Amino acid sequence: MRYLILSDIHANWQALEAVLADAAGQYDRILCLGDYVGYGASPNEVVDWARAHVSVNLRGNHDRAACGLTSLDWFNDHARASALWTMAELSAENKAWLRALPQGPLPHEDFALIHGAPLDEDEYITSPDLARDALDYLEPALAFFGHTHLQGGFVRAGRRMLTVPRLPAKERAAVYEWQPGTRCLLNPGSVGQPRDRDRRAAYALYESGAHSLAYRRAEYDVPLAQAAIDAAGLPPILSARLAEGY
Ligand code: ZN
Repeated sequence: MRYLILSDIHANWQALEAVLADAAGQYDRILCLGDYVGYGASPNEVVDWARAHVSVNLRGNHDRAACGLTSLDWFNDHARASALWTMAELSAENKAWLRALPQGPLPHEDFALIHGAPLDEDEYITSPDLARDALDYLEPALAFFGHTHLQGGFVRAGRRMLTVPRLPAKERAAVYEWQPGTRCLLNPGSVGQPRDRDRRAAYALYESGAHSLAYRRAEYDVPLAQAAIDAAGLPPILSARLAEGY
């Protein structure tokens, strides 16, 4: 089975459309690691699409916030403002769908899906040490995670931890291969709000049983996504950051 792996779409319809066009014909099923909504201006469009097209869905912290499953106290000001806007904007059906999303780790075939960390979907795996801890709580040798909005990941080879190298700014694709027997925690990056100083939408392609992952980036119409955020009256930082990818 060939999978299109998405994470952190964050209601950015323009970025999602570009990813789907870029990956067209190269996958059989879609997996999503959560955060369908929050920050962006198209929550219903993205959730309608996910309900129709995504085979394996997972809950993210912003999905939990947008359907009232969590307190907004720990969100910063712009995240809270966007969660409140999203809550008011989402249809009752879409909110019910978000509320019913499973929490990770979610086993699928011979890998696992998580949003943040295995024990806490709000925790960011941003270092080899955090990845080493996370791998201890995961049964399969391969897991995909999101939440950091940073494409890449970490691999444990015996006692050594390796960091997956970044995709160079001018490259649209890079295949990362690992040795059998290693344990991998890999992040496809964020479709709708990349934070690795590369504004292009990030995603990954994986084929069952392979010891490799294709990291991809797709250009999208950033000004259009920004205009939608501004027109919705969302905090200006949410449109500004898309231009720089931070
Ligand atoms: Zn996110």
